[in-house]
Amino acid sequence: MRRVSIFGATGSIGQNTIDLICRDPDAYDVVALTGGRNIAQLARDARHLRADVAVTCHEELLPDLRDALAGSGVEAAAGDAAIVEAADRPADWIMSAIVGAAGLAPGMAALRHGTTLALANKESLVTAGSILMETARAHGATVLPVDSEHSAVFQALVGEDLSAVERVIITASGGAFRDWPLEDLARATLAEASSHPNWAMGQRITIDSASMFNKSLELIETREYFDVSPDQIEVLVHPESMIHALVGFTDGALMAHVGPPDMRHAIGYALHWPERRRLPVERLDLAAIRQLTFRPPDDRRWPALRLAREVMRLRGLAGAAFNAAKERALDAFIAGEIGFQDMADVVEETLDTLTRDPGLSSAPIDLDNVQSMDHLARMRAGDVIKRRKSREQVVWS
Ligand code: NDP
Ligand code: MG
Repeated sequence: MRRVSIFGATGSIGQNTIDLICRDPDAYDVVALTGGRNIAQLARDARHLRADVAVTCHEELLPDLRDALAGSGVEAAAGDAAIVEAADRPADWIMSAIVGAAGLAPGMAALRHGTTLALANKESLVTAGSILMETARAHGATVLPVDSEHSAVFQALVGEDLSAVERVIITASGGAFRDWPLEDLARATLAEASSHPNWAMGQRITIDSASMFNKSLELIETREYFDVSPDQIEVLVHPESMIHALVGFTDGALMAHVGPPDMRHAIGYALHWPERRRLPVERLDLAAIRQLTFRPPDDRRWPALRLAREVMRLRGLAGAAFNAAKERALDAFIAGEIGFQDMADVVEETLDTLTRDPGLSSAPIDLDNVQSMDHLARMRAGDVIKRRKSREQVVWS
């Protein structure tokens, strides 16, 4: 039996992972499931899968979790430290699907045990990619991409010589506002930004898809996974989300990965790797689909892409700063404090203030510095948001 743990089990990726595991329950021994506010779901899944332990990141919810698990034999725990402790429990395969930089610490703990880490949590790669990959190498651990584009690139590279790779093209659906007139974007509401034309995902990544911050994180993620230079990575808008990525080789060949927009493919590939097993995803009928379309990304509509290129140029702790500023700006948009288009302005202004500090590019990349930069960037982004709000009040009063 394979011992598996799922971090972020109550979320969209976590639930898709559980769906796959439940189809073959005798093959898996579930060690840990973690979640956040959704205690009912966490307890239900922990009981059903007979997990050893269920953990919520919210300490104040421990009594609720204990109640929900009473008599089940499943241990209950709470808090960020308890999540990291759960990652210390031996497991053969771990799904990292917490949203945000909070996924970094448990991911690192898991890698130190030499496990196989299926990595959906792109924020940990953007924040501390080099540390994560070095830790994996040092402990003989394996990191398998779960983001659909990166799973697609990974699959297109099987058996290939990496030195023959000329370029990597990741596709983008364009999200909710792909076809909106540019002048309407400033008025985009939370509800409108939270609905994706093709993929069913968590709210944060759905909004990030509309702003292309998701794709900007994925540009950086591509560099971290495949060690290609930024100018070898391209973004292609592909509204149908059927081709997830393409790899271009020195002989002119392009290997494309084609499949339905269903995360259970990438999750299942990482679960069964290096084998392929039957997965419950739709089989595409290309004759019925008839045509797939492509267009170049528009930097005016999606300034996040330009910012990601700047972050890749800066290197150092710029990824940590970028992700943290983005997370803070997204919090502010969700809270109704800033508009949709303000998110990119807030991130850019935050990065501008931080680049005046030479530490951004030159400080050693270690976990302490990454965490300090994450903290600093959230604070600076908060200041930028406050300044913008007070300027608005002056204009309107
Ligand atoms: P969701 O918001 O649906 O789920 C996030 C999970 O993390 C939930 O279990 C949530 O708990 C938990 N969580 C939230 N905050 C914290 C925290 N501070 N500490 C610990 N746990 C926390 O996200 P998704 O499943 O959509 O995304 C998960 C990750 O996978 C993200 O990094 C995303 O970018 C990436 N990804 C997602 C894709 C998708 O299709 N959804 C595609 C590619 C990548 P609760 O809900 O109980 O509060
Ligand atoms: Mg993706």
